[in-house]
Amino acid sequence: MAAVRLRDQALLLRRFPYGESSLVVHALTRDHGRVHLLAKGVYRPKTPFYAALDLFDTLELEWSARAGRDLDPLAGARILERRHLGRDLPRYEAAVCVLELLGMAARPGAPAPRLFDLGVRALDELDEGREPPARALVSFELGFLAALGLAPALTTCAACGGDAPALEPDAPSPRAAFSAGAGGRLCRSCAEEARAAGRRVGTLPVAVLGAAADLARDALRERAADDRGPALDPAGLDNVRDVVARFLEYHLEARPKSYRAFLASPQRNAPRRGATAAR
Ligand SMILES: [Zn+2]
Repeated sequence: MAAVRLRDQALLLRRFPYGESSLVVHALTRDHGRVHLLAKGVYRPKTPFYAALDLFDTLELEWSARAGRDLDPLAGARILERRHLGRDLPRYEAAVCVLELLGMAARPGAPAPRLFDLGVRALDELDEGREPPARALVSFELGFLAALGLAPALTTCAACGGDAPALEPDAPSPRAAFSAGAGGRLCRSCAEEARAAGRRVGTLPVAVLGAAADLARDALRERAADDRGPALDPAGLDNVRDVVARFLEYHLEARPKSYRAFLASPQRNAPRRGATAAR
């Protein structure tokens, strides 16, 4: 079968050396999904993609595709948006998480405009540096979940769609029932049903769920561009990210490599026993 010449916007997911002078790149393209390309002679200055194959940049790639071939030859690469995410470790680490998640969702031949645009937006925010990297990351994660049809219920009950009020509204830090397996926050009776059906149901602070819902509105652009919503301190952001990262891990059925350090610490939103006793 004849090869076809394709051209598309792309983000590199991974790159590794191949032989003496070539590079294999895995990329998420906007309209062709995941592609695996061989860049021959990549270190020769006259090559059409010399110095244009860096992680975190938005690229335009041109390649020759043939059905059934594992590795298509790259024919050209151009940088559309250069980013400098190697300068700051927390931003770099958040950008690595973004690429890893995109890589877990990207499928060959499956157009992924929504994922691609979310990735570009998150990398732009990390590069611009106007907000904490954890905020850009958690907002990306929430958008990513929504793009996969896995958005957690954060304000209403995941099972019946009704209100899901705090279990003890007068507690110093009120909590609501939450189950990753059931899709998120639950009302009291749906929580009981889920437990009876053998699902794991825990509780999370209502304030953390509210902050997550707020960031989800950012992620889905349900807010004017200049309205960044309420600020969250670093601990608050970590609490939200803890919820979102564990939810993601549950639904992806895998712990992303770049999450290991963050998720190695005990659950940040576990009930504080001392707090109850002191009441
Ligand atoms: Zn319910």
